[in-house]
Amino acid sequence: MESHNTTCQRPEPPIFWERAEGANVWDVDGNRYVDLGGGFGVANAGHAHPSIRDAVAGQSAQLMHAMGDVHPPAVKVALLEALVRHFPGGGPARALLGSSGSDAVEAALKTALLASGHPGVVAFEGGYHGLGLGALDVTWRGFFRDPFRARLPECTSFARYGDADSLRAAARRCPAPVGAVIVEPVQGRGGERVPPRGFLRQVREICDTEGWLLIADEVYTGFGRTGRFFACEHEGVVPDLLCVAKGLASGMPISACIGRATVMDAWPVSRGEALHTQTFLGHPPSCAAALASLAVIEEEKLVARAAETGAAALAALRQACAGHPRVTACRGLGLMIGVACDAPGTAAHACREALRRGLILLPSGNEGQVLSITPPLVIERSRMLEALAVLVECIA
Ligand code: PLP
Repeated sequence: MESHNTTCQRPEPPIFWERAEGANVWDVDGNRYVDLGGGFGVANAGHAHPSIRDAVAGQSAQLMHAMGDVHPPAVKVALLEALVRHFPGGGPARALLGSSGSDAVEAALKTALLASGHPGVVAFEGGYHGLGLGALDVTWRGFFRDPFRARLPECTSFARYGDADSLRAAARRCPAPVGAVIVEPVQGRGGERVPPRGFLRQVREICDTEGWLLIADEVYTGFGRTGRFFACEHEGVVPDLLCVAKGLASGMPISACIGRATVMDAWPVSRGEALHTQTFLGHPPSCAAALASLAVIEEEKLVARAAETGAAALAALRQACAGHPRVTACRGLGLMIGVACDAPGTAAHACREALRRGLILLPSGNEGQVLSITPPLVIERSRMLEALAVLVECIA
């Protein structure tokens, strides 16, 4: 029934989720799991947080769908106000809503072209920005790009992640004049790669000198994941454009490209036909979920909690994996942690074994050699440490 591209059945069938709450997931057979992946790094406030559930239920009862860019739902306005309030640096900002991370990236790429007049973009090796045909052009992995190359504009060149000095050479290689640089402050699907301190600030400085716009893709890192509200705050960097999705609503599909007002105002004023929009723009239950999730993150101090739990988890992992013959590095920032293994097979085996022992997690990295640990930020420290002790036993 489903395209055979989608759900992998081998070497073992997946589990089928029935219910989830906090950092726990139950499958259809009643087995309980600890969700060390946070449902692809989405459930920042925890699965099915009561406030978010209530917000979605209340909004759905009142208004499930409106006319996003024509006769919009009131809740969209409240969310836009909240998003621009959170834009780093505190200057005037504007936002463009979407439904997925890929949408947010494509809105940013379009904005960058309108604002700079230049289609070229420098992205980074290992970077992942989504699979829509626009976002795919800045995503690194050949696995995703190669079958669709004939449809890609190929206006992108790739610099070495963590090495700001490689930016200018990459720009010279770019097939089109460069208008923007897109970067993940910590690479997620690329393998939880934390760049050296100062990298992002250097990228910002080079962009300023060269007149390039800086797009921070915080689809994965946003909303407390790395122990700061946005990961660019670790270095006090203010991007021109910021892409957010995943943890924005902790489980409802909504995203945004938020940007400095002067850059966003490159969009023409709508005279009745929006130049960039979609049917479900400003989807009311998703907007309500996002507002509720933002409130939970603040009220439950989840940003600080991610920093503390993440630091304890990383320290425990480093201790447990010291000298481990199959682990080459434990790294991370907040609750975005990677255990790099000696081979993709090691990581794949560990994920399968962990699932058998009640832990859900995925491999990341370009070869799938990293164990990716991105649980809900609400996970209790003791459960996290117990789960990691089990995980280390699964690496063989
Ligand atoms: N950007 C980053 C940094 C991501 O990690 C992802 C997804 O993992 C995306 C963009 C694309 O998001 P989506 O899968 O919602 O389109």
